[in-house]
Amino acid sequence: MTESSEPLRDVIARHGLTASKALGQNFILDRQLLARIAAVPGIREGERVYEVGPGPGGLTRALLEAGAKVTAVERDRRCIPALEELSDAFAHRLQLIEGDALRIDEPEMVPGAHVVANLPYNVGTALLLKWLSGDMWPPWWRSLTLMFQKEVAERIVASPGSDAYGRLSVAVQWRCAARIAMTVNRSSFVPPPKVTSAIVHIVPGEQPAGVSPRTLERLTEAAFGQRRKMLRSSLKQLDGALKAAEIVGIDTQRRAETLSVAGWVSLARQLDA
Ligand code: SAM
Repeated sequence: MTESSEPLRDVIARHGLTASKALGQNFILDRQLLARIAAVPGIREGERVYEVGPGPGGLTRALLEAGAKVTAVERDRRCIPALEELSDAFAHRLQLIEGDALRIDEPEMVPGAHVVANLPYNVGTALLLKWLSGDMWPPWWRSLTLMFQKEVAERIVASPGSDAYGRLSVAVQWRCAARIAMTVNRSSFVPPPKVTSAIVHIVPGEQPAGVSPRTLERLTEAAFGQRRKMLRSSLKQLDGALKAAEIVGIDTQRRAETLSVAGWVSLARQLDA
């Protein structure tokens, strides 16, 4: 049996990869589901994928089968031998990095890659914010296909007026398009996590002119930090923010969650003017 056809459960057993709670390891073993996830970014033959947290390599294998060249970073060195077998089975289209994804210089290592990751919640959110921030736009990545707790996925794609709408929604949507590609039940993981998960797919869009990412972040941090309050009260702490709201015609009796992404963008632009 070749590595590419051996059931993942057997690969895990053969390499003694008991799931580590500390590393947030919940593995997906269902090949059909893995193939569906690998199809989300719409990778063309030979395109580069940057996979974070491949674990025993189930999703990695699906990505290789979809024709991708994969660069994968995994923190758990126990997984490396299983991943090396996979690299051999796929003519070294898999390049491995043993290390912490939070320390990778992606623009240098994987420029132009599609990012695919099923990560522990805290690492996933930290990486998403890292990948969304900064002045370089379009960014180094072509698309992001990321597994999150469903509740976090809903915050990413939320519309104004909903409880889920907040800083994360604006941070993503002001220069990206985001959608929930699928939800994934707890029972699809070994061991099952406590909550339902969802795959979010994000592609970069146009960056609105004249807006600094940091100003937008400072505004939404102040406003959504006190989301039940009127803007007139929550934005007081930011020099010039109330004046800017007046100039662009935003009623400061509103609450943060009622202002559209375009509204936040125009407020940030005016604040920087
Ligand atoms: N991709 C596999 C799958 O879908 O079955 C494993 C997913 S498991 C939820 C998360 C993986 O991320 C684990 O293999 C874990 O060791 C790895 N991981 C956790 N933190 C990491 C980090 N900071 N950098 C790289 N990998 C990490």
